[in-house]
Amino acid sequence: MITREQVHELAQFEDPAACAFSFYFQPMTPRNKAHKEDAILVKDLAREAQRQLESKFTSTNTNTSTNINKDKCEAARADLDRIVRLAHDLRGNGARAKAVFACSAQGFWRECDLPPQLSGTQLLVNRHFHLKPIAQLLGAFPSLGVVLVDRHRARMFDLRLGELNEREGFFHPLSRRGRGDGFAGYDGGHAERRVADEARQHFKFVAEFLKDALEKGTFENWILGCQETHWSQFEPQLHPYVSQKLLGRFAAELAHVSREEIRAQAERIFADSQQVRCSEAVRETLGQARGNGRGVTGLRRVLHALELGEVQTLLMGDHYVAQAVECIGCGHLDAHLVSFCPVCGRETRKVVDVAEAILPWVIRHDVELFYVKGDAELDKVGNIAALLRFRSEKKGANSLRSIGDVATNLSLGRQAGLVGRYRGLAGG
Ligand SMILES: [Zn+2]
Repeated sequence: MITREQVHELAQFEDPAACAFSFYFQPMTPRNKAHKEDAILVKDLAREAQRQLESKFTSTNTNTSTNINKDKCEAARADLDRIVRLAHDLRGNGARAKAVFACSAQGFWRECDLPPQLSGTQLLVNRHFHLKPIAQLLGAFPSLGVVLVDRHRARMFDLRLGELNEREGFFHPLSRRGRGDGFAGYDGGHAERRVADEARQHFKFVAEFLKDALEKGTFENWILGCQETHWSQFEPQLHPYVSQKLLGRFAAELAHVSREEIRAQAERIFADSQQVRCSEAVRETLGQARGNGRGVTGLRRVLHALELGEVQTLLMGDHYVAQAVECIGCGHLDAHLVSFCPVCGRETRKVVDVAEAILPWVIRHDVELFYVKGDAELDKVGNIAALLRFRSEKKGANSLRSIGDVATNLSLGRQAGLVGRYRGLAGG
């Protein structure tokens, strides 16, 4: 599974020769000979990528660059061969998807397993790695705790990218009911009270543990599985902050529930809560934008807000595609297809998919990201919008200088390898 650090590393990567390969492998639904079709598809994709690169290098050929281009082509071919071999070895491994990020000219090769929920197998070559499938899979919550409790036990799991891992377990043995009952009556009642008290202590202990885990950032949200009767005893012990981070609960008997059931229930609750969170974010952003508050819509204003570091939550239509230009000097992105950078005056180059080009920024700057599916309101305002954490300038005081400052900071950050925290892509 991919970690937060690995995603940051991928977001930082850039190959000036545009020979950075991103390969996503989504196994076909298991059926006869599916692996053979997978292998044929990957070979076709590799051939297409090779053809694309060769035509690019021959078109930019001059006498002096011939040898350099030949080297680049060979390095790229080595990556493609390795990807084809890897895809061949993946056959029969239908349970897992895979991603590979490669650029042998810079000695870069990273592989990671993914849950098989990609939109398809694809191979792309560009200056930066293609990170949208990863951003989509990771969703907007970095880590999720799943907790099971009963009166004297608790089990805690992590759920991440479809994988459930057990972290912790508690067992607080109860005094045996009836032990030393003596005469029924006073002593019996006493024993029952003691059992109830021990259960309360246990719930209190688990609640404290959860508060601690949330404060330390072990997970950001959690899901609970327990019996209804236990919930009524556990709930009063939860700190308000812990209750607020609870995404939902499901009925489960700790001693008998299977891992598969826990995973399925937790994923369902998570998906539901994501949908709610996403529609809330869309409503809030558009409302704020209408009132000239902490919301902006449209590519130009969103890019501007990103450069100023104002964006808290970014919303993009699921199939949003738009062109922009990127400055080869300071990295400024501009929605107007200008030939020279309005910030530093250097040349710009065309960015075919701006939604992809902003991902490295989003990853570096603690921005929550949602890909919004079929929202008519968002569609009306251009399928891109952002909720701001603050507004750094008064309306109308649109100074180029401030953009320049931020753009400089961005490039400095890139050089120094400084990375922001991206909620959506955090990891283990
Ligand atoms: Zn510039």
